[in-house]
Parts: sequence; structure tokens; C-alpha cells
Amino acid sequence: MKLSDRINRSRPLATTAMHGRADALREAGEPVIDFSIAISHFPAPAAVREAIAHEAGRECILPYTDVGGAVDVRASLCAKLRAENGIEATPDEVVVTNGAKQALYEALFALTDPGDTVIVFRPHWPAYVTTAQLLGLRIVLADLPDSLTPEALDALGPARVLIVNNPHNPTGKVYTLEELGHLRDWAQRSSGHIVVDESYEHLIFNGNHTSLASLCDWRKLGVVTIFSASQSYAMMGWRVGFALAPRPLARAMHTLQGPITAAAPWLSQVAARAAFAGGRPGGMLEDYHARRDLVLDMLAPVPWITMAPPDSGPYLWGDIRALTSDTLGFAESLLEEEGVALMPGDALGVPGFIRIGYISDDIVTLREGVRRIVAYGEYLRAAARA
Ligand code: PMP
Repeated sequence: MKLSDRINRSRPLATTAMHGRADALREAGEPVIDFSIAISHFPAPAAVREAIAHEAGRECILPYTDVGGAVDVRASLCAKLRAENGIEATPDEVVVTNGAKQALYEALFALTDPGDTVIVFRPHWPAYVTTAQLLGLRIVLADLPDSLTPEALDALGPARVLIVNNPHNPTGKVYTLEELGHLRDWAQRSSGHIVVDESYEHLIFNGNHTSLASLCDWRKLGVVTIFSASQSYAMMGWRVGFALAPRPLARAMHTLQGPITAAAPWLSQVAARAAFAGGRPGGMLEDYHARRDLVLDMLAPVPWITMAPPDSGPYLWGDIRALTSDTLGFAESLLEEEGVALMPGDALGVPGFIRIGYISDDIVTLREGVRRIVAYGEYLRAAARA
């Protein structure tokens, strides 16, 4: 079948592809341990379950809502923005979407034309690059600096859009106030837009998360902020998030969303309203912190992996260049030989590194998966010496 050039130029999203392979092996009866993505083992917050039970107890009339989300849902998201992020916004500047991915696609679609430049810091969440590819954008990958400076930003060159992920997947970097100030200044002196993905805003172990939009005139500078229920509220499958965008862009996102998905599903909007009002799963952050430390402790004595404790997020990002530079091959054979799925850094723009999502299984399985990674690395080292 002849498909479009546009789709033939595009690749499936690496994270979902790896997760799909792990799932297929599991279904075939293989005891696969899946660290390829972060699916929380926590249930949805109690406030969400209550809100859904209440909704289900009514007549179960699930309406088509306004494409950008029911007005009262958007109003409650504005209250969240005010209380938690220090941002004043009105409901017509909020678009409820089927997760951060849809918000990202719509924002990039509405801000760019094919061939426009988008800058992405690497390592990066694969969806930034895959989405930009789908839209035919020119992608400039820049190394994520430990500390962002005005010089580093100027060196990026002109761009239509700069994508910032704060807190950052996979390194856990939480941008400081000073760095956010540099980003604001960059937006002021360039004609580029900043799209900030704040999906991990509540998964912080060290430091404080600040929204760029709270520090600048985001309407005038054309700053877009994306939020998601998936990670901060352990609600991956609910497929709901939202974007805060200056009114003309919010309107454009409506235009795009209307014929594709229309509104996010009503039950997910109800769930989002309850979650974003402050209903996070109790004990989740402490649990993630303990798991993070457990894996770090297990890997500390391993000479071929270097891993800094991340300040946020559900991932560990490790440098295994002392073992191999072929991390794609490592991930492939680790899955085949040891039944452990993880993300090779290649998919995140930095070969030589691996990403471990550590929040999905019980602790015994987590330990076993890490044990298998170490054993496989040791086996490769012994084979190289022989
Ligand atoms: N942004 C980033 C950087 C992510 O890693 C994730 C989860 N993998 C998301 C957003 C969540 O996306 P969605 O809301 O579409 O589930």
C-alpha cells in the first residue's frame, strides 16, 4: 500500500515501541521485566476515584463538551494554576487535551510550518523529536547543559520553538530560578516561542519546581506550558492533560483538536478536575524516592555504570560507555537474553547511556531486573576479556 511521504519519513515513538515489545513477550509467557517506560504501580488518587464514582452514580450522561474542555473544568484548572504555579489565566487560555502528547502536537502544529526550526535539548523525551518529525520540522538537538547560561542559549541560533522539559526526563534536572530567568530573557530577545513541558511538576525530590510562565509575561512572549495527569498523578491511562497558551494559540489548538478527537473524554475531564485540584496519591513521592535510592545503592559498586541521583522523576539515567558504546545493541540483547526492557540512550539522543524507569513493578521484581542488568553487563565484560 502506498502511504504518504510524510508518514514514510516518520518513525514509531521509541518508548511505546519498546514497551510494546516487552508487553508482547510477556503475553507470550516470557517473564519480562519492563523498565522501558514509567507506569506507576500506584492507583489513581482517592479524590479521582470518588469523583468518578459520584459521576457514575448519576445518570451516566456523558456529554460532548466544548472542544477545549468543559468550562467549569477549565476554570478549576485556572484555580490550580493560580494556587500551585502562581499563574493568572482565564479558561479561554486553557485547552484540555488527551494527555501532554496531544497538547505538544497541537502547539507545534499551530506555531510552525514545515521546515521551521525547533530546538530540543538532549537527552530528550522521544516524543519531542517524533512529533517534530511528523510535522516536517527542522530539528536542532543541543546538549542539555548542567547549568543553562545566556551564552549557551545564544549559541543555539534562531528557532521558531524551543522545547524545555522542566522537570526533565530523563536526567531529573529541575531548572533553577536563575536558569528560568535566562530562558525568559531568551524569549524576550528572540522571536522564538518556548514550549515548557511541566508534566513531572510534582515528582520532585530535591529543589523546587517553578513554572516559567509565573516569571514572565507569557502572553506577550508566546510561552506555552503543558501539564499532564499521567506522571504527577499516576494517571497514565486516563489520557488527560492540558495546555496553557496565549488566547490566539489556544483558539488555534481548538481548531485543530475539533476534527481529531474533539474534547478529551468526559470522565477523564472529571478525573483531571479532581486530580489537579490537589488529589495526588498519598505516599507516592516517598515510595519513588526509596526505589530510586534502592537502585542507586545496587548500582553504586558496578564499575561500568555511572549514575547521579536525580532531583526528580521516575527514571535513572546511567552512563555505560565504560561497558559499551552500542547501547542500542545492549538494550536489544538485554531484552532477548535476560528479559529486561530499558530505553537505550540512542532513542533519547545520547548513545552510551541507558534509562531505567523504576516505578512500575513490586520491589522484588525491581531488584531482580537490576540484578539481571548487572549480571548481563558482567557477562559482556568477561566475554570481552576472554
Ligand atoms: N512529558 C514527558 C517529558 C514525559 O516523559 C511524559 C510521560 N512519558 C509525558 C509528558 C506524559 O505524556 P502524556 O500526558 O501524553 O501521557
